[in-house]
Amino acid sequence: MSHASSAVLVINCGSSSLKYAVIPSESMPRSARIEGLAEALGTPAARIKGKTAQGEAFTLEVPGGDHAQALEAILQRMEGIPFSAIGHRVVHGGEHFTHAARIDAAVLAAIAQTTPLAPLHNPANLTGIQSTLRLFPDLPQVAVFDTAFHQTLPEHAWRYAVPADWYTEHRIRRYGFHGTSHRYVSQLATSLTLNENVSTGPFGWLVAHLGNGCSTCAVWDGKSLDTSMGLTPLEGLVMGTRSGDIDPGIPAHLQRTLGWSLADIDIQLNRHSGLLGLSGLSNDMRTLTEAAAQGHAGAVLAIEVFCYRLAKSLAALSCALPEIHGLIFTGGIGENAPLIREKTLRLLSHLGFHLDAQANLSLPRGSAGRIELASSTPRAIWVIPTDEEAQIAAETCALLEASPLH
Ligand code: ADP
Repeated sequence: MSHASSAVLVINCGSSSLKYAVIPSESMPRSARIEGLAEALGTPAARIKGKTAQGEAFTLEVPGGDHAQALEAILQRMEGIPFSAIGHRVVHGGEHFTHAARIDAAVLAAIAQTTPLAPLHNPANLTGIQSTLRLFPDLPQVAVFDTAFHQTLPEHAWRYAVPADWYTEHRIRRYGFHGTSHRYVSQLATSLTLNENVSTGPFGWLVAHLGNGCSTCAVWDGKSLDTSMGLTPLEGLVMGTRSGDIDPGIPAHLQRTLGWSLADIDIQLNRHSGLLGLSGLSNDMRTLTEAAAQGHAGAVLAIEVFCYRLAKSLAALSCALPEIHGLIFTGGIGENAPLIREKTLRLLSHLGFHLDAQANLSLPRGSAGRIELASSTPRAIWVIPTDEEAQIAAETCALLEASPLH
């Protein structure tokens, strides 16, 4: 069977969660898509939420269930749904993986070697791969890396200004993340623009992926030229619970003056900072926009800092592009929070971005659309729902079509 004409099972394993989706090929109806989530794995509260082949929602308790047990339970519920390949999200591919890779022993070993760079994520991704290899030893499986899209960064964008042997001996450099999403939405913006027949490209896009994790990216002619995340997903923007950029002297200061351990500081920066730390209320932007409307001072401050830092990052990344054709908002916040788009764009009018306030408010949820003031701006402002699962399925099919094993 051609891989382009059949469905792909996409697996995204976190440390205690497993997201899955069966992505139909382009020749199949979109309604054939099925997705769900297993969460709290390894705890008594482990459960699966999904939809059956008939489209009926179900919740299944699997107390103490691990990734493999959850996957087996999911597959029982999906009986009769055919797929011919499996695509896995893998967070860190280091410098080794510049593209998606068909999974074999060498690829597994290389992913394992990258684990020191992503100690929480890569082991979970490997667990998912091991489970599906056991369950489907004969199906082709592909790893799609969050970092691969950013392997086109020029060296001046990916080097840190630290002693050279930090890089040459320990591979301390900027890698970037959310590459699957940045690639998907920038490709879509390009094809939607080409459909309008106004320009033939190449196109330069600034992308803001704003979910629980947030990052910006400068994309020129389909290639990432710079991005806000670095060695780890802690660098860059203010996020739900992550601080983003801080003075690198702060951890040493806290250690010296308060005796805090680096492990404690790492937890504070990753889990207790960002929107949560600033607001003292929540890491969730919907909660914060509602609280800000009621006058909650912490929520107001968190939103101001979030938007200012986002605008500053986009302006900085504009230096990477020979020309700017537009800005793309995506991720849960980028797609659904008009207030955040408006506050951010108010700081970017000097770059030629002018928002149509009405279009910003009335854009239908879940659909791609343009929200710039057409009469006064040369630059497009897109809102494009991301679809990392569809991108992983597309890259899986493309790889298998290009290099069938037999
Ligand atoms: P993840 O990175 O986990 O995939 P999402 O892309 O789903 O996360 O984004 C989650 C974020 O999107 C949360 O902060 C959530 O509050 C925010 N969000 C979703 N809908 C809205 C909304 N209508 N208004 C404001 N924020 C929203």
